[in-house]
Amino acid sequence: MKIAVLKETAAGERRVSATPETVKKFIALGAEVAVEAGAGATASFDDAGFAAVGAKVGSRAEVLADADILLGVQGPAPDALKGIKSGAWLAAGLNPFGERARVDDYAALGIEALAMEFMPRITRAQSMDILSSQSNLAGYKAVLDAAGEYGRAFPMMMTAAGTISAAKVFVMGVGVAGLQAIATARRLGAQVSATDVRSATKEQIQSLGAKPIFVENVAGIEGEGSGGYATEMSDEYKAAQAELVSSHIAKQDIVITTALIPGRPAPRLISDAQIASMRPGSVIVDLAVESGGNVEGAVAGEVVEKHGVKIVGHRNVSSRLASDASALFARNLYNFLSAFWDKEVGKPVLDEEIGNAIRLTQGGKVVNERLLG
Ligand code: NAD
Repeated sequence: MKIAVLKETAAGERRVSATPETVKKFIALGAEVAVEAGAGATASFDDAGFAAVGAKVGSRAEVLADADILLGVQGPAPDALKGIKSGAWLAAGLNPFGERARVDDYAALGIEALAMEFMPRITRAQSMDILSSQSNLAGYKAVLDAAGEYGRAFPMMMTAAGTISAAKVFVMGVGVAGLQAIATARRLGAQVSATDVRSATKEQIQSLGAKPIFVENVAGIEGEGSGGYATEMSDEYKAAQAELVSSHIAKQDIVITTALIPGRPAPRLISDAQIASMRPGSVIVDLAVESGGNVEGAVAGEVVEKHGVKIVGHRNVSSRLASDASALFARNLYNFLSAFWDKEVGKPVLDEEIGNAIRLTQGGKVVNERLLG
């Protein structure tokens, strides 16, 4: 059983899908591990560290030769996988909706592509969930990015020269990233408020010492769909939300948006007019910018200024904390493969519930329901 760790090739991707810690554990399970030279360099894991725990470090061709399982953070370009063993597994974040054509290419290569972001949200798979591990870091980093762009301090400071008031931070979308953004902004001393369409988040917001800002008395406000994800809201709800947000946002210094709806473009939460109502020098961070954006005028990969307000649209925010993000991503992959490791056959064997959820291709065909439906 040979596990291959590929060097990421996507622009701006700094993470790596294995660390010396997880390689050591795979070897303890009885696997052979080959790491592409330089794979961990941008995440501060050098080749020597991988070699020290028993990995073979080599060229891409050497690493791919006879590999049974390929690990990646993002999906590798299918062209770069020519010669791969038929039936080999590829376990990575494959962005199946965004990179749909690639899924066909993986099928044509005869590999089993396993999309880690399709991991079901069930208790036993929590430790395998790359969306949670990466969103948590992105929520933290979004607040630091906002603080970096903000020309004022976050905490209230009473100094001999006078008092500085605390920054007001508003978090829109209180999933994994939003909760961490609230906690981080609180740690920095900001006055924090937050909103979501799922009413279950109200208590979570309060438990972190922030103020919930919620649309009340509108029919069908419960925005929770399957797996704890949000659903698209009614027009009536959207209008009530826009009105509430308008009056609140004008008083905020920092806004962090994280709202996503699986398989759909991100909901638009902040309009140009709302941006214009904010104080010059305010900062908005749009964590959903790569999924269509929550903020009008946000540009993926750029920090733009509108009406004196900076709108931060960094791509791949977890990769901006490459070392920790890699460590957690690598553990997600290890937790996944080791949970299914069959000692007798010396390889992982997936069960139906998780296998059917994450498997995109098998036997030369696209097999995943969410892509076929
Ligand atoms: P997400 O990344 O899909 O979306 C981010 C947040 O945006 C969500 O809270 C969503 O409700 C919110 N949102 C969507 N539309 C909105 C709108 N119009 N206005 C305001 N907010 C809007 O969410 P997530 O981080 O994946 O978390 C979703 C839920 O799943 C959470 O309750 C989380 O705790 C849960 N979860 C469970 C597991 C597990 O059990 N394995 C793992 C991860 C997350």
